[in-house]
Amino acid sequence: MSKTLAVNAGSSSLKWQLFDMPEEHVIAKGIFERIGLQNSLSTVKFGGETHEREIDIADHGQAVMLLMDELIHFNLIHDFRDITGVGHRVVAGGEFFNASTIVTPEVLEKIKSISGLAPLHNPANVLGIEAFQALLPDALAVAVFDTAFHTTMPEEAYRYPIPTKYYKDYAVRKYGAHGTSHMYVAHEAAKVLGKPLSELKLITAHIGNGASITAIKGGKSIDTSMGFTPLAGVMMGTRSGDLDASIIPYLLKNCPDLESAQQLIDEFNNKSGILGVSELSSDMRDLWAAVDEGNSKAILAYKMFVDRLKKFIAQYFGVLNGADALVFTAGIGENDTDVRSDVVGGLSWFGMEIVPELNVRGADGIISTPESKVKVLVIPTNEELMIARDVEKLKVEH
Ligand code: AMP
Repeated sequence: MSKTLAVNAGSSSLKWQLFDMPEEHVIAKGIFERIGLQNSLSTVKFGGETHEREIDIADHGQAVMLLMDELIHFNLIHDFRDITGVGHRVVAGGEFFNASTIVTPEVLEKIKSISGLAPLHNPANVLGIEAFQALLPDALAVAVFDTAFHTTMPEEAYRYPIPTKYYKDYAVRKYGAHGTSHMYVAHEAAKVLGKPLSELKLITAHIGNGASITAIKGGKSIDTSMGFTPLAGVMMGTRSGDLDASIIPYLLKNCPDLESAQQLIDEFNNKSGILGVSELSSDMRDLWAAVDEGNSKAILAYKMFVDRLKKFIAQYFGVLNGADALVFTAGIGENDTDVRSDVVGGLSWFGMEIVPELNVRGADGIISTPESKVKVLVIPTNEELMIARDVEKLKVEH
């Protein structure tokens, strides 16, 4: 038995889960929040208990040291060497990585070199990798790429209809994201449907603070809504999703507050989506509180959110030429019964019907009627388990 950590490092957070592998038993999980800010917070959960601690954490290196101290303090490990593998979620793998990969100095350099493809995420992922490598040099470090699952997209899906030189010379193409989640729920959906994944056409809707829709044929991603970066596709918590690119020069010319294209892209990434339209919050629960009070901006934000989801899902019925099932996952997809019923109700023409009594918060499995031509499923995502499995696989091959 060996212990594996699955790590998801953000710019000011570090989420982790400790597994016994290959048993796939979760020993503990936790998160460091507000790293580099004041009042950082560490949360550790195991055995039905939650331990929270407020402590200033300067950087990711200090967070990893604290994590090891806490794992020993709580008797979850006896020695640092108990952890034999660390799997890191990395958002962008570009065209280099079509599968999870052992981190070597060359691999780390490549990940750094493509940071432009996920400027919010890749630099933070690298900080996480370096922090663990410094403290656990003997553990096998594995990078699990969000883009890897989408490397099966055909060229007609991943190319943009712009001059070829921008693809050939600058690698501008669709890469997608959330691949680990889309792949996980596709496998689980096949189990629930009792059919081999190779025979299924699925539309998976990962709807959390970030959101993306994927068309999956025979277990392979053939199209996805995120693009060159995770900014594209449907409307999200703080991200705009698809926009007409002409807006950028137009606003740069006419809006005196804007000094650079980067500033505008930062607005599209961090201040748009549900937050930008509602002018309240990026969080769906906050949005609902305002909708319930009749706030018109919140109502518009909700309508736009559902509208964009419906359009992408409808597109993928076309891309797949019909689908066996639509699968909801992630924070909103798993919990928000209204988003599910509004999206499915608005696409009923495609042959989907939800059973209201099954469409409850925390549903797990089929929520559509037996007559529903296209089944509707809720599958809680588990990216950490996929990461731990990939580490285990590479440990065995190593
Ligand atoms: P994620 O990025 O997957 O963690 O999802 C975060 C999003 O899920 C946020 O917008 C949350 O407001 C939303 N969310 C979590 N729980 C619920 C819930 N019970 N109802 C509606 N939205 C929820």
